[in-house]
Amino acid sequence: MPATLDADGRVASWPTRPSWRGLDLTAVLGELFPKVPLHWADDGDLAALAEADAAGCADLVYVGVGTGIGGGIVLGGRSVPGPGRGSCELGHLIVARRGERCDCGRRGCVQAEASGPATLRRASAARGARVDFAELRAGYAERAGWAVAAVEHSCAALAAALVGVGELVRPDAMVIGGGFAAGIPGFVEETARRVAALTRHGHPPAPVGPAVLGGGSSLHGAVLAARGGTGA
Ligand SMILES: [Zn+2]
Repeated sequence: MPATLDADGRVASWPTRPSWRGLDLTAVLGELFPKVPLHWADDGDLAALAEADAAGCADLVYVGVGTGIGGGIVLGGRSVPGPGRGSCELGHLIVARRGERCDCGRRGCVQAEASGPATLRRASAARGARVDFAELRAGYAERAGWAVAAVEHSCAALAAALVGVGELVRPDAMVIGGGFAAGIPGFVEETARRVAALTRHGHPPAPVGPAVLGGGSSLHGAVLAARGGTGA
């Protein structure tokens, strides 16, 4: 689930789908699937588990850039912060104290700075005309100034978030997925360059590469979690 659920499995918040707030997910799923054990987990946490499994890497950070930004941390093959402790809300790491307003109400969360819609808004402002995804992709490929500026701002914001997480948990690898990042050739590479440029003496950040499971990563993670032993 992308939503935040309370301890009883009720949707506590889902900024992009406010009508779901208060939904008793446990009860609804219980009616659909009676007499089976039910578990839920955050989609970003599950995607991270799946990407870690696919990479054969037990200590990995995953970030997905799409209409929002989600992600997860896996350490020792298990989700962090782990069962019963809430989800890893990587998208709400603050990377710009006076930055854009986020869905959550704060300013400068990486989601507000670097998501697909945030990048398109910035590109539109720079170009002086509305920019859609295909135009951004083409503009970036052609190195149009407005497109390069918009994409590089997002890559820089994402790099700041990844480096911050890396300082805390020391992963062996960091991977970037999500439809927006995957749809802009060079987005992952530019972010990787910016992460590498933030090396401090004696502490190089973990290498950054593309996620490999595409849109199915959360579902792969759910299957892994359902099979047990993965700690989601
Ligand atoms: Zn936020």
